[in-house]
Formats: sequence, structure tokens, C-alpha cells
Amino acid sequence: MRKILFEGLARRPLTEAPPRADDTAIGELAASVDLAARQRLGRSLAIREVDAGSCNGCELEIHALNNAFYDLERFGLRFVASPRHADVLLVTGPVTKNMREALARTYAATPDPKWVIAVGDCAFDGGMFAGSYAVIGAVDAVVPVDCHIRGCPPRPLDLLKGLLAILEQQTVK
Ligand code: SF4
Repeated sequence: MRKILFEGLARRPLTEAPPRADDTAIGELAASVDLAARQRLGRSLAIREVDAGSCNGCELEIHALNNAFYDLERFGLRFVASPRHADVLLVTGPVTKNMREALARTYAATPDPKWVIAVGDCAFDGGMFAGSYAVIGAVDAVVPVDCHIRGCPPRPLDLLKGLLAILEQQTVK
């Protein structure tokens, strides 16, 4: 017991290190996305995430946008529960046969103007699941895609860059 107590006193705290100076880039990028959204839409951006058959690795990175570190909502960007409230569909995974209709209906339910961002290598060309009997393939085989964000999975910073690119009508390949 005494050994544990002394070790606890001598050990450095196990908390995360403070953000590096260049992590301010995250805040600047998110603020740019918010500004671009307000200029193009007159309000902040609403995002609907659609898992069309991913392994959930991409979802972990997308969820990270809402954690205390990235805290996307402080810039007014928010995830919504219904495609009827969304401007952007973030679609992950290869499209499975079971999810094809759900994805097509989600796209149809999203009001114009709308953008589709295919997130991850699987959404680009089926990735490691290409050729599977259960998979149709890339997202653009089912709905029109405005932007691909490559990576397996892409980092949250790449997701922000993709959102900004969409708003500035550029293409991230
Ligand atoms: S791109 Fe990678 S992390 Fe994303 S769904 Fe495919 S295998 Fe999973």
C-alpha cells in the first residue's frame, strides 16, 4: 500500500497534454466553415450522417467532431437527426445491398440545396469490401457525390476541410 502511495505521488498526472500551438488550426478551420455556411445559406450548417455499411471506424472520427477537443457545435455546426433538416449528407462505408434504398430515400428527403460528402476509402470505391456479395460499391453508385474525403478513416481535420471545400465549391479528391 505504501509503495502504491509513493508511486502515485511520484508519477506524473495521466491527463492529456494541452493542445499544441498548431491545433489552433482546428478552431480556425471550423470558424471558416461556419462563416462560409452563413454566407452561402444565411445560417449555420446542418449535417446528417448516414452509415451505408461502414465498419464504424469512420463514425468514430465523425463523432470526434463533437467531443470536447473539436467541439464543433461552438461554431454553430451541428448534426441533425432527420435528413429533412440537413444541408449536408456525410455518407460512410461501401453501400451495402441492404442500405441502398435507405440511402436513396435519405437523399430524396433532404431539401435543396444539398451536398453529399462520401467519407472514407470505402465510400470512394468500396475499399476493402469491394467485390463482396453484400456490397453495391461506392456511394456515387447510388446518389450523386459532391466531394470525396479519402482515408481509412479520414481524420476530423480532413472532415472539416471537406466541409469547407463543399461550401467553397471546390473538390477534395
Ligand atoms: S474507410 Fe476504413 S474506417 Fe471507414 S468504413 Fe471503410 S474500412 Fe472502416
